[in-house]
Amino acid sequence: MTDEPTADLHLHTTFSDGTETPERVLEMARQAGVSAVAITDHDTVDGMARSSAAAAACGIELLPGIEMSSCSRQGVEVHVLGFLFDATHPTLTQHVAEQKARRIARIHETVKRLQRVGVTIQAEEVLQVAGEGTVGRPHVARVLLKHGYVSSVSEAFSRYIGTNHPGFVPGSTLSPAHIIGVIRAAGGIPVLAHPIYLKCDPLIEELAQEGLLGLEVYHACHPPETVRHYEQIADRLKLLKTGGSDFHGDIKEGQPIGSVKLPYALVEALKQWKTTSVP
Ligand code: AMP
Ligand code: FE
Ligand code: FE
Ligand code: ZN
Repeated sequence: MTDEPTADLHLHTTFSDGTETPERVLEMARQAGVSAVAITDHDTVDGMARSSAAAAACGIELLPGIEMSSCSRQGVEVHVLGFLFDATHPTLTQHVAEQKARRIARIHETVKRLQRVGVTIQAEEVLQVAGEGTVGRPHVARVLLKHGYVSSVSEAFSRYIGTNHPGFVPGSTLSPAHIIGVIRAAGGIPVLAHPIYLKCDPLIEELAQEGLLGLEVYHACHPPETVRHYEQIADRLKLLKTGGSDFHGDIKEGQPIGSVKLPYALVEALKQWKTTSVP
């Protein structure tokens, strides 16, 4: 008997703050027995060509994916996943280019603030650690770790770069509605990521009124009762359900690829929405 096909629709690579290359992530997905994946790097689609080639080599289906981490509501960062969009659509390509520039400027400001409290790391080193990927605070954390200012990535956040700590620089102030609009303009399906981090159910309903189409019901950080809770909300609001491990490599423990395996029917539902939606 063949195993039922499964999907993991939330994975990061070296094109954002993951520690593994697209080739390695696809190979790990194959080993984990996952049949379909979405690579959802933060604010970028630069890795898509390499992911696509690697997926073909591994016999895995790749869905176009992104995690837009460039919006906030009342100062709280909101992450919106996008699936099955046209990665060449000008609204999307312009948005990701702007976010790339904003992220680089933010790192320069972060480093300035850290220097004021005696932490003498350089922006150039952080950018070098990020390499081809969109730069973010996890790369600052790795440099702080390397130079012995902290003994773990989580300590870097709790002492230096987490919200309201000395090196914290606010992120993007774009609204979630704007981000939802960018994904929909490119023909994609916007999905609210890991709602457990927000713990704000009324926000899900507001975003559904603003064009949100899905909820990440299944996530490595959602225990069974949380899954049931968000399944009910998704059903009530007629939102598509997605999920994934949110794999980042060895910097985030306990979230290996395939730790969340979706029934393939949920992928079919995403595709079905695409075929029935009016462009
Ligand atoms: P940025 O997009 O630059 O604001 O960085 C945010 C990213 O940092 C998130 O997407 C997470 O992957 C990671 N992150 C946030 N908080 C923590 C934490 N406390 N420990 C480790 N990683 C974190
Ligand atoms: Fe991340
Ligand atoms: Fe996220
Ligand atoms: Zn993520």
